[in-house]
Amino acid sequence: MTVIQEPAAGTTTALLAVRDLSVGVRRGRTLVPILDSVSFTVRAGEMVGLVGESGSGKTVSSLAAMGLLPRSLEVSGGAIEFEGRDLLAMDRKQIRGLRGAELSMIFQDALRCLNPAFTIGDQIAEPLRVHRGMSRSQAHARAVELLELVEIPRARERASAYPHQLSGGMCQRVMIAIALACSPKLLIADEPTTALDVTVQKQVLRLLDRIQREMNLGVLFITHDLGVVTEICHRTAVMYAGQIVEEGPTEELFRRPRHPYTHGLISSIPRRGEEARRFGSIPGTVPRAGHWPTGCHFSSRCPHAQEGRCDTAPVPLDVAGPAGPDDPVPHRVRCVRAGELSLEGVA
Ligand code: SF4
Repeated sequence: MTVIQEPAAGTTTALLAVRDLSVGVRRGRTLVPILDSVSFTVRAGEMVGLVGESGSGKTVSSLAAMGLLPRSLEVSGGAIEFEGRDLLAMDRKQIRGLRGAELSMIFQDALRCLNPAFTIGDQIAEPLRVHRGMSRSQAHARAVELLELVEIPRARERASAYPHQLSGGMCQRVMIAIALACSPKLLIADEPTTALDVTVQKQVLRLLDRIQREMNLGVLFITHDLGVVTEICHRTAVMYAGQIVEEGPTEELFRRPRHPYTHGLISSIPRRGEEARRFGSIPGTVPRAGHWPTGCHFSSRCPHAQEGRCDTAPVPLDVAGPAGPDDPVPHRVRCVRAGELSLEGVA
């Protein structure tokens, strides 16, 4: 497993703190829960992975943090703070002032997110003109610098290109340049490499890793690919059916998973030198919102479920291990049998 350099000591204050966030979708008089008391933090200089299968609530969590929840969803409890400021209490204008300037987001399908009618130089320059008040020529010069930062060759020339003239990997680099244009403190990357082939995916991950360290950025990296998380994330939070089920330093979480769902995800990662090993799989699918089991949300798929213990009452997220000297967030797990199960991790 890759050894990931920890953020600088002393960077203990959270840039982003999501606390007990609950979100639901309105169906008549009922609010059907989609997120159930989700809590996590991201510090400056820290890359936090948010992982889980489709339907676990990763993207809704990230959209809530950006103030981009669709109108059909309602926040029913909890708080989202950016540098101690309550995002949920801000009006649209205040949120818009933060978004793109201090908070930024990279989406998964770069080609669809870029505007086909404008050059990439113009698209990178736009947030600089809106948030930083730069003139057209200043913003264009900075756009070229940003294209160089994201390692696009012949940056000056490429600034005049339209999105359809670039490859998928190049478009994703442009999206990263747009997100970084105003030197944000926090970047939310929602499956930024999913649409790319494996080689380009590696290049984009290396780029993000380098930029995150150089700019001391806090990054929330959303993915369903645990292999990616081991490469670049300091800490990892695992989501399942609207809840965080395990959270901890990435290395510890992979060496010693405490939750059967985390264990199932880890068992399904192909590993070099273990070609003969049969990959594990988790039977079934994530239950839809409104159809979560009583008690542990994972109980319908868990091979360790026990009647009368796992299916009676909500399971809290408990501390499973002490916080490290450089990591104020302890290893936490949501499983009534966490202390008695011995789940194999990866060395
Ligand atoms: S609480 Fe029970 S069902 Fe849920 S993960 Fe733990 S053992 Fe499995």
